[in-house]
Amino acid sequence: MLKNDISRKSLIIKTKSLSKVYGKKDSRFKALDDLDVSIKKGESVAIVGKSGSGKSTLMHVLATLDRPSSGELFVDGTATTKLKRKDLDKLRNEKFGFVFQQFFMNPNDSVLENVASPLLIKGLSKKERIRRAREAIESVDLLDKVNAKAKSLSGGQKQRVCIARALVSNPEVIFADEPTGNLDSITGAAVEKLLFDLHKEHGITLIIVTHDIDLAKKCQRIIKLKDGKIV
Ligand code: ADP
Ligand code: MG
Repeated sequence: MLKNDISRKSLIIKTKSLSKVYGKKDSRFKALDDLDVSIKKGESVAIVGKSGSGKSTLMHVLATLDRPSSGELFVDGTATTKLKRKDLDKLRNEKFGFVFQQFFMNPNDSVLENVASPLLIKGLSKKERIRRAREAIESVDLLDKVNAKAKSLSGGQKQRVCIARALVSNPEVIFADEPTGNLDSITGAAVEKLLFDLHKEHGITLIIVTHDIDLAKKCQRIIKLKDGKIV
């Protein structure tokens, strides 16, 4: 199969009539309205739309960080709404990695500690955790900063640490919400290239929320939201 021939690949994510409602009664607000979304393994997809259109809500629901109000979400064929919290957490940890606009990390911990932290719950030996973390740090080209405190890094380096941490569990999907939103354009371009290289070289499915149309166009497909609906 050609590297980018995704036509015959199976679905990693599928939704059926997915809706998300916030609030009750007078403040009731339908943020996602009856969405059917299918994402194939190895695909790169941009979720775009104006501020408030539901992009982050959709990403959080697809990533199982938030439950839908109605409808179904299948991850690799598993119906997730029936899963218990513990099984949902396990599925998320196994399959998904996350990169957010704000560089969530422990500022006083080293790069190595930050990147290795998702492995703590996996019951691996310390040696194995360090080996895997170093491998992920190498893939974002930050081995020279492995012992530096996270807070001492530049914005671009921080985002590379976040990408390494997203990679350390060998995820099938990386969800990125405005991954370059807090970076200058040159640093942002380097982070973009890193994400797309991972997609191409490792077949990782990329789901990127962005209002940057140039970034969206680099994805194989664009899902555009307006008022919680796909347009
Ligand atoms: P986007 O990421 O496209 O800017 P969001 O998904 O964050 O949009 O939000 C979609 C809509 O849902 C917005 O109108 C927002 O105000 C509303 N919303 C988001 N989160 C909540 C929440 N926790 N409670 C109530 N309304 C929310
Ligand atoms: Mg948002």
